[in-house]
Amino acid sequence: MLLPFVAALSLAASIQSAPPAAPQVVAREAWTMGTRLGVVIEATSVAEATHAAEEVVREVERFERMLSTWDPRSEMHAVNTAELGRPIDPSPELALLLAEAERYSRISSAAFDSRIGALVDAWDLRGAGVEPTADALRRAREAAGSRSISVDESTGTVIRHASAAWIDTGGFGKGAALRSVARGLESVNVSRALIDLGGQLWAQGSADEPWSVHVAHPTERQRPVARLEIQGVSVATSGTSERFIEIDGVRRGHILDPRTGRPAPAWGSVTVVSSDALEADALATALYVMGPHVGLAWAERQGGVDALFLQVDDGELTASWTRSMEQWLIDAPQTHTHQDGNHR
Ligand code: AMP
Ligand code: MG
Repeated sequence: MLLPFVAALSLAASIQSAPPAAPQVVAREAWTMGTRLGVVIEATSVAEATHAAEEVVREVERFERMLSTWDPRSEMHAVNTAELGRPIDPSPELALLLAEAERYSRISSAAFDSRIGALVDAWDLRGAGVEPTADALRRAREAAGSRSISVDESTGTVIRHASAAWIDTGGFGKGAALRSVARGLESVNVSRALIDLGGQLWAQGSADEPWSVHVAHPTERQRPVARLEIQGVSVATSGTSERFIEIDGVRRGHILDPRTGRPAPAWGSVTVVSSDALEADALATALYVMGPHVGLAWAERQGGVDALFLQVDDGELTASWTRSMEQWLIDAPQTHTHQDGNHR
């Protein structure tokens, strides 16, 4: 009668003393949404990690099929070419995203506004770039913004009012895909994950094992200037250093100021951290358009917006950030100002 008990005891002892299984790490790379997708997954087995990595790639590809403004087979393309004046009800998923984009446009007073298609065309941002004539710019501005396309914020119903008008999903698509990836990862047995979708990250980990990531200098991309320790959040950076067109020797970024119809001036970069990847994406674009001073004041006013502004002026870097950004910031640039203007 004693034997099974002893056996059970020794089994328990051996379980306790066994070293914890080392996590298995799988890395995967893919090209989707017009950019590089890098996936690193840690799980208890290679099979689980591989499966999760494949799911991530598949999910981002699904978003590309839904949101692409390049692929004429996408649902977004159908919305963007819908008959003028006819209300369109996109699929529930797309309707929610468009309604959300509309909300970011409203709260940012149109610093963020995805209804910039006509302006993207006028500046030929997808081609070699061209400075539009005053008349062409005026026409493009009329075919952009809230009067050109109405999006019902509660239902996502879209009505196009101008033939040149289309919604550019570039300002929130990566964030939307990453948010969905993050939700998917919650339901599988993954201990840690770092997803990089064209520079926007999703970091999943634990408080004692966060991911350490660098924020690059806005114009010298090889130079790290800040370090963040993150988990359970996304990090999005908007800037004009990497993607730009050159018109008559002047660099024009790919971020437009919908309020002027012109490319936002190149001043540096802004990095936003949020547990909602779409919010990080949309707010980074919005804050870039607002610029480092108005943007910082706006972000502080909103409350709970974790943002780091890196401004380059005559080659000199100035950093500023919201108070709530400090929870992620481990190594910060030397010169910085808070919203109240105090230099440290
Ligand atoms: P991001 O790199 O996230 O800042 O997004 C930039 C992309 O969003 C551009 O390539 C455009 O496709 C689109 N975009 C540019 N300006 C805006 C804007 N003011 N609001 C929303 N989307 C924008
Ligand atoms: Mg963005």
